[in-house]
Amino acid sequence: MKICTSRDGRFSFFGLFESRLLRVKYFSLHVTGGMQDYNYVWASCFEITLELSCCKYPPASQLLQEWENNRESLITLIEKVHIGVAGFVKDSVTGSGLENATISVAGIDHNITTGRFGDFHRLLVPGTYNITAALIGYMPLTINNIIVKEGPATKVNFTLRSTAASATPDTTEVVATASTVALLNLSPGTQSSHQPIQPKDFRHHHFPDMEIFLRRFANEYPNITRLYSLGKSVESRELYVMEISDNPGVHEPGEPEFKYIGNMHGNEVVGRELLLNLIEYLCKNFGTDPEVTDLVRSTRIHLMPSMNPDGYEKAQEGDSISVIGRNNSNNFDLNRNFPDQFVQIADPTQPETIAVMSWMKAYPFVLSANLHGGSLVVNYPFDDDEQGIATYSKSPDDAVFQQIALSYSKENSQMFQGRPCKNIYPNEYFPHGITNGANWYNVPGGMQDWNYLQTNCLEVTIELGCVKYPFEKDLPKFWEQNRRSLIQFMKQVHQGVKGFVLDATDGRGIFNATISVAEINHPVTTYKTGDYWRLLVPGTYKITASAQGYNPLTKNVTVKSEGAVQVNFTLVRSSTNIESKKGKGASTNTDDSSDPTTKEFETLIKDLSAENGLEGLMLRSSSNLALYRYHSYKDLSEFLRGLVMNYPHITNLTNLGHSAEYRQIWSLEISNKPNVSEPEEPKIRFVAGIHGNAPVGTELLLALAEFLCLNYKRNPAVTQLVDRTRIVIVPSLNPDGRERAQEKDCTSKIGQANARDKDLDTDFTNNASQPETKAIIENLIQKQDFSLSVALDGGSVLVTYPYDKPVQTVENKETLKHLASLYANNHPSMHLGQPSCPNKSDENIPGGVMRGAEWHSHLGSMKDYSVTYGHCPEITVYTSCCYFPSATQLPSLWAENKKSLLSMLVEVHKGVHGFVKDKTGKPISNAVIVLNEGIKVHTKEGGHFHVLLAPGVHNINAIADGYQQQHSQVFVHHDAASSVVIVFDTDNQIFGLPRELVVTVSGATMSALVLTACIIWCICSIKSNRHKDGFHRLRQHHDEYEDEIRLMSTGSKKSLLSHEFQDETDTEEETLYSSKH
Ligand SMILES: [Zn+2]
Repeated sequence: MKICTSRDGRFSFFGLFESRLLRVKYFSLHVTGGMQDYNYVWASCFEITLELSCCKYPPASQLLQEWENNRESLITLIEKVHIGVAGFVKDSVTGSGLENATISVAGIDHNITTGRFGDFHRLLVPGTYNITAALIGYMPLTINNIIVKEGPATKVNFTLRSTAASATPDTTEVVATASTVALLNLSPGTQSSHQPIQPKDFRHHHFPDMEIFLRRFANEYPNITRLYSLGKSVESRELYVMEISDNPGVHEPGEPEFKYIGNMHGNEVVGRELLLNLIEYLCKNFGTDPEVTDLVRSTRIHLMPSMNPDGYEKAQEGDSISVIGRNNSNNFDLNRNFPDQFVQIADPTQPETIAVMSWMKAYPFVLSANLHGGSLVVNYPFDDDEQGIATYSKSPDDAVFQQIALSYSKENSQMFQGRPCKNIYPNEYFPHGITNGANWYNVPGGMQDWNYLQTNCLEVTIELGCVKYPFEKDLPKFWEQNRRSLIQFMKQVHQGVKGFVLDATDGRGIFNATISVAEINHPVTTYKTGDYWRLLVPGTYKITASAQGYNPLTKNVTVKSEGAVQVNFTLVRSSTNIESKKGKGASTNTDDSSDPTTKEFETLIKDLSAENGLEGLMLRSSSNLALYRYHSYKDLSEFLRGLVMNYPHITNLTNLGHSAEYRQIWSLEISNKPNVSEPEEPKIRFVAGIHGNAPVGTELLLALAEFLCLNYKRNPAVTQLVDRTRIVIVPSLNPDGRERAQEKDCTSKIGQANARDKDLDTDFTNNASQPETKAIIENLIQKQDFSLSVALDGGSVLVTYPYDKPVQTVENKETLKHLASLYANNHPSMHLGQPSCPNKSDENIPGGVMRGAEWHSHLGSMKDYSVTYGHCPEITVYTSCCYFPSATQLPSLWAENKKSLLSMLVEVHKGVHGFVKDKTGKPISNAVIVLNEGIKVHTKEGGHFHVLLAPGVHNINAIADGYQQQHSQVFVHHDAASSVVIVFDTDNQIFGLPRELVVTVSGATMSALVLTACIIWCICSIKSNRHKDGFHRLRQHHDEYEDEIRLMSTGSKKSLLSHEFQDETDTEEETLYSSKH
């Protein structure tokens, strides 16, 4: 979306609602008065100020109405940005764009100037105009009678003649287009004289050479490139990706993302060189060639020239059919290394594979191709089938895959003929140069199927030629054969249907909404800004958008062959009765923040929840942490004291109790007001070291504490988080066990239990026997004032959520799972669910998250106790396979977990903040709040309560002595807290009857009951004495928890092992063909 075009060609969109005057502005800088004038005079950006209401400061009750009144107009305004005239001003001889040329419209006394590439966009209302382009040193040029219509901009290009050059006839092009999509389909043929610049660098680039090439282009074209790395190969070579986009580093809402991956097999090198050629081609032609410029403007392109840089260095020029250099340095075939839908992949997941999977989950890719060699064909999913035989294995999107595969093969005449490599495979024939993967031969563990099944991205595999490593002299020929195909394939990302899913109440995008197409069983989901893309072949479809907590919406959509249709879905929340509840006492209120610092903090939380929000925080913060050694008990105590000495205003160190051997169990509080109770602030705790042999968590928490202190009053985001959160860190729960454990002992259980040989994570019961557990229960959990608890442990890489004990149903499971997923998703590899720990290398944990009982069921765990008796959700994070890894691994463990730990600090500010009062405004403490008929919390002093809940709609019941029960519904956002104010009426109605009446009636009933009971008891006691046992049993019944444990302990032993025996996957057939893709 584009609102302001400034001179450097970048643009921005911010909608800001200036509450003071209730005027609405759109702008990109700070308001210091007269900003719209500044924009108009000094930049080529239009800004308007709208007077929205006669009343400058209307009562809050009218705000919703104001929004309703203006919503349509505001959206229309945003759409209008496309209206007008757009194009380029170019030099008639060189064809290059002319910067700073003046564009003037006859009769309008305001000129704009062209951007760096000669580009301009002049907003105009519909009408007919005469427009002039002028630049010093050139003959001005006027084009008359340019028609501007409603809708996308009319395209006008000016070609200016230098005043120094000899006279040549004017060549001007005026292309009026009916839709933005048509812009993309301008092939070079329609441009009378323009010829794009072809790449010149045709040679084999070994790693250092490739690295310099990439850095060179990133350096020469900083406005459209960003060079980044996904991580390192086995031999520590960077896995580079070049991003090419008009806004590098940013996902522009609505703009699809595309990727090419080359050289996955190290000896198949053509793709690697073609992608370097493509980088050169896109960079050199942006701003001058309309096709390239439009593609780069409308698409975020990611190019990965080499997925297997180690293998490449082993391969040999001239290689046609060998496998030397095919695999990575650990000798695994990367295109057999992805989790598969039919076959259990036994090989350990390789670093290159993990890096690429992580990347694919992080970006909203829509379309992709994986470039190989050894044949000449485009191969599309699925790549294997249930039986493991060569047969057509259709995906639900078979038609789309055929269309995008054809878009490539059609432009490569040799490929299109369909008879590749006649001397190696004489009988092979692929009609039109495309084939279903499994129909050719089975590839279990391939990358393209994983893309399709695990992300929203459609990927095909392209075989570029029979020779895997051709001689250098042949490289120009490969570019010539594939250059049109490479571009045409990228353009396919603009097919089908695209748009936004928006919340009808506030107009914001809905993240993770589902877009499903009737009769195609492959839904896609929206990205963070609510945007989605669904590739489809031409036809008419029934498309449904749905999201949790909203009413689904279905539309009939016709897809044409040229360009994507924009279809937006505005969803209405399914909780329609929030408003109607208002008069009756309970009210939900998400806009209650008159306090400007509160508003600022809400914005911060939103920003930190957005894409790259936490990365930004980490980049701007200092983290010169000396995390190079482990802290024994003595070091730990000194470290904590040191923090308190250095940061006395924001820290407080207390002792929760002592261990069996009388070591202290330290608790460090970090807050702007340590020692003071602030019940309105959410409280979070981090606990580590329950198992003394797994001390990584302890070190991570010390690093977190130091990070927060170091950046307080230095980094604004950290400062605000510390100011508004009460953070409690308990780094070592089992100091005795920790003293016994040994560094680099990855599997030993020495130190796991405490000094009395009790595993503390089985001692959290009402009869806790150990001093450590008692200290945590009494001084932490039973305070019941925490909103979230994060426990750190070791021995795998995953997050578990309650319960650890086997139970049939988990209350509030959605929220617990949401919190666990949040941690896993912010970790670079945890969410992939492949811990690859020795002895359990085939373990697969979907999303890196599992219920405790499903992973390792046990009774008496800390998190079960925390949920049941502390009313606080707790998750357990397992940070590494090795219990006690070498200290040299600590820096990377901190790097992996830092973002996740910080995300918990952000998350604790979401959910529902509530305030309970009576009609007179008096706060009611100790009221019971029941959520979704399950979990209960109590209001704190001052009537506050806070509870974390998964995004969506939740029911709230509030109960307090002497008042009538109140019911309410609340909508929870993924990036902001919701607040609820519950107002109790005095309880003068019970079941709809006057209170006095009910009391009288029930009084009478009670008397009758007591009388009857007496008579029965008298009669019975004459007969027998045994009834006393009955009373006895009733009294014993209080401890349900213990009973449940006793019941369940006889129940299930988890049978995760069932997968371990399905290991016969290596078929002969596969080895036979393994030298192909
Ligand atoms: Zn290959």
